[in-house]
Amino acid sequence: MAGNITFAMIKPYAVKQGFIGPILAIINEAGFRISCIKSTKLGRKEAEIFYSIHKSKLFYEDLVEFMSSGPVIAMILEKENAVEEFRSLIGHTDPAKAKDGTIRKKYATSVQSNAVHGSDSDENALIESDFFFSKKDRY
Ligand code: ATP
Ligand code: MG
Repeated sequence: MAGNITFAMIKPYAVKQGFIGPILAIINEAGFRISCIKSTKLGRKEAEIFYSIHKSKLFYEDLVEFMSSGPVIAMILEKENAVEEFRSLIGHTDPAKAKDGTIRKKYATSVQSNAVHGSDSDENALIESDFFFSKKDRY
């Protein structure tokens, strides 16, 4: 299914602020099928692994702390060209630079607390989906 799925997450602060419903509505309206979804909480170790690509960055420690600070909504989304389509729906990493109408423009409060995650490649979409969902939960 490479090319047709992406992995997405609603991050802790957006969950805390009650933005799950509005963000899911935008995802639906944009034509994604939510094929898997769950509420879960990343342990410190899991957050470290999930963002290990950023290990050398100055913000890594804060990022790990933030991502394990509360529950997240994890999901697998299906649509043609899903990775690119979802990245364009969420907008720039920094909400101040995100275009009008994007999820981050509407619901992010800072670069760190930027409401949602979206995979950045087909390869990572599969790796991240496997990280959160076992094969029996995939349909
Ligand atoms: P994500 O991987 O969460 O979808 P992204 O792909 O837009 O975000 P990345 O470059 O992968 O951006 O950075 C991962 C996360 O690290 C960002 O979402 C943000 O929370 C945090 N981050 C990135 N750059 C900075 C920074 N300069 N200062 C603080 N946090 C940052
Ligand atoms: Mg990224």
